Amino acid sequence: AVGAGLAWYLTGAAAVFSLQIFIAVLVIACPCALGLATPTAIMVGTGKGAEHGVLIKGGEPLEMACKIGAIVFDKTGTLTKGKPELTDVVEIEMKDEEEIISIAASLEKLSEHPLAEAIVNHADEEGIAIQEVNDFRAIPGHGVEGKIAGKKYFLGNRKLITDIVGLSEVEIKKVERKMSKLEDAGKTVMLMADNEHILGMIAVADTIKESTVEAVKELQRRGLQVFMITGDNRRTAEAIAKQAGIKNVLAEVLPQDKAEEIKKLQGTGVKVAMVGDGINDAPALAQADLGIAMGSGTDVAMETGGVVIIKNDLRDVLTAIELSRETMSKIKQNMFFALLYNVIGIPIAARVFAGLGLVLRPELAGLAMAFSSISVVSNSLLLKRFKPGRRNYLSMIAPYLMTALFAFLFIEFGRLSGEM
Ligand code: ADP
Ligand code: MG
Repeated sequence: AVGAGLAWYLTGAAAVFSLQIFIAVLVIACPCALGLATPTAIMVGTGKGAEHGVLIKGGEPLEMACKIGAIVFDKTGTLTKGKPELTDVVEIEMKDEEEIISIAASLEKLSEHPLAEAIVNHADEEGIAIQEVNDFRAIPGHGVEGKIAGKKYFLGNRKLITDIVGLSEVEIKKVERKMSKLEDAGKTVMLMADNEHILGMIAVADTIKESTVEAVKELQRRGLQVFMITGDNRRTAEAIAKQAGIKNVLAEVLPQDKAEEIKKLQGTGVKVAMVGDGINDAPALAQADLGIAMGSGTDVAMETGGVVIIKNDLRDVLTAIELSRETMSKIKQNMFFALLYNVIGIPIAARVFAGLGLVLRPELAGLAMAFSSISVVSNSLLLKRFKPGRRNYLSMIAPYLMTALFAFLFIEFGRLSGEM
């Protein structure tokens, strides 16, 4: 503005005339549209997300969602319903099915794991007695232990039996065939043992959510690498992954190693999203470029994730990605608009095109500036027409229409100013 005013003044124009040019350029160059470009789009985008049950915590996760190249799903509670049901009880050294359930349920009564709930619920339904437990301990990623009537019992996976109880592989070999058979059917098998023997086996099954298969297929169709991560054993994990249509399986991952696996993936140069629900998923949610938590999950997971999916429907992961893509393109359009006005307006206001009859008086420059803010805000508001899985055609063609309309307005203003 100073340059334009001075240039006219020094080439012999009157002071008042030069001042008018100075003001017109100053007004038209005001970057208010530029300032509105990003926040308005983000506000409409996050609001629209909330309407569809996708809570996005601000601009950063919203921006990240469309850059994701790999997505990692936790198994229990994310891909599956997280409501496992007891399906099989197998007698090994202990020849009393009811006693096996009774001991298992007594131990699990004190645990918060979803697997524990399945066993306790079953005991309740069958009216099987719960016994008093002393010295209870939960061992993350392994299982539980405790004393009942002075005797020590353990319940958990193979790792618990070999690493914590200290039984030899031979003991596991004895039950391996029965165990693998259940696992191949996608069931999670827990072994019950005392200090010497494996006493029995309990299998629970957790079914995948109706929305899982479709969501996974759609994500893969869009070229994302889809992974499953779980602390569960490989056989069960593979069986569930197969049902879900996932080929990349990270199984038998201890809670503390989930974040490490995410880091490894990030090391391959892709942006990684983690979708999870448990306390044990929180470090991985924090490590991932984008953490997505299930609304049914633990508070810690929801606190850590940048996006929370309220309805627990995995198709909403797609909604978040689509919304992110649309919002980001809106921001870019808005930036383009905001700059376009200045590119057209400044030279006109500086009377560069005075020879063509195009000039801009300060009052009309002010009006044009208001229009530019209106156009940026209206363009952002078109995001309101967002619907998951559908193209927002009006929003897509709007920038072209608006560019044409406002370019026309500017030129008209220029003409009008010349006549004033
Ligand atoms: P996930 O990643 O599927 O949420 P976790 O890391 O919580 O799994 O648990 C991994 C495995 O450890 C389970 O599949 C189970 O075999 C064993 N486990 C963990 N907690 C318990 C428990 N309370 N009772 C029995 N087994 C358990
Ligand atoms: Mg889980």
